[in-house]
This record gives sequence, structure tokens and C-alpha cells, in this order.
Amino acid sequence: MLDIPDPKQDHGHCPLCGSRLNPLHLALPVGGPYFHCDRCDLISTGKEGHLSPSEEQTRYLEHDNSPDNVGYVSMFEDFLEKAVLPFSCGGRALEFGCGPGPVLAGLLEKHGFITDLYDPYFFPDESRLNPSYDLVTSTEVFEHLSQPAEVLTRLCRMIREDGILAVMTHLHPGRDAFTSWWYHRDPTHITFYSAATLNWICSQWPLDLLYSDDFKMATFRKTDSRADDRTLPV
Ligand SMILES: [Zn+2]
Repeated sequence: MLDIPDPKQDHGHCPLCGSRLNPLHLALPVGGPYFHCDRCDLISTGKEGHLSPSEEQTRYLEHDNSPDNVGYVSMFEDFLEKAVLPFSCGGRALEFGCGPGPVLAGLLEKHGFITDLYDPYFFPDESRLNPSYDLVTSTEVFEHLSQPAEVLTRLCRMIREDGILAVMTHLHPGRDAFTSWWYHRDPTHITFYSAATLNWICSQWPLDLLYSDDFKMATFRKTDSRADDRTLPV
């Protein structure tokens, strides 16, 4: 599909900040259409680019996410070393969106975290989504979110004050380089953040950005529990 959206059309609103979206005019053979938000720098796929839940689940099961996949495990060890352990040293953790083979949860347990699992497809126990976590990790999840604002608010409510949210999702390289970027070629990837988006998130949610490698890792600290019910977006 060669997608050239009509700039005069109403392309809807940013799923993160609610601003009007602008179409990205990309000559891509598959995927899209894609939209950019001038306010928070998010790039997102229009609803027509979303897979159905069953198509999504099938795609996730095709990934080799087992503890025997050495590359997969070392990716999480790197994430732990850089984005988690310098900021959080044990306590109660939630692996949010852990997928079918919760490798990171096993590593967290080895480092002394009591770890709960939640995944809407594979570990759908909503009782895990209770407020009290010292650490919430979410790796290779945020790019799948159709409603990132709602999820951020929900995650913020689950983290105790001074607790940590550690995220892995590849940051987009900007509008001009987006066409040649590889990350959007997976049809389950629909929402893309930048370094500017991370800062915008901190301006709206009670989060401080403690660390980012400006590539795919970001660590936030929750700053103020009193904001939970009054001022969180959505
Ligand atoms: Zn936005």
C-alpha cells in the first residue's frame, strides 16, 4: 500500500496528548498510515493499521522469547544493568506486558525482587494491577499501545512514591528518518516515542526521567503520590 494521506482530512487526535495529528507523507510499501504530533513528538499508526487482538497474539507467539535464547536473555541483562539496578534495589516488582515467556521476571527474582506478572494475553490476572509496586518494568510493550496515556496513568497509580518505572522501547529517529527506520516494520508496533516525548511525559505525569540512553531505555521515578487521583491525565 502506498499511503498518501489527505492533509485536509481530520486525522484524529494524538493518543498521548490529545492534540490534532498531522499525516506523515511516507512512500512505504506496507504499513501505516502514520501520523505525527507536533506537541509531544509521538508518531502513531492510524486505527486502520492496527491488527486484531487474535492477529496480535499470533505474532507474539512467533517470537522466540524463551530463556534458551541467549540474545534475548542478554538484552534483558543489559536493561537490568543500565536501567533498573542503578535506581532500584529490591522490593516488589511488576513485569507489565511480560509476554508468554517471562524471562525478565526470572532475572528480577535473582536480584531480589518479588515479581508479579501481568500480560493482557498470557497472564491476564487484573488483581496484579494494584497500587504498591517499588518497580514496574515494561519492555518492548509501549510500542504496542493504542492508548498510551491511559496506560501511563494506570502504571503511575501502581507505583509507590519514589518507585521506579523502567521502559524499553526504541525511540524514533525523527520524521525525516522514519521511512528508513526498521522498527515500524513489525505490524504490531503502532506507537513511537522520541527523547522529546519522554520529557513531555514528565511534564504531565508525576514522573522524573532519571536515565535514558537516547536509544531504547528510559527510567522514571514517580515523584508524588498525592497527584494520583487529582491531576493525572485521563
Ligand atoms: Zn501528542
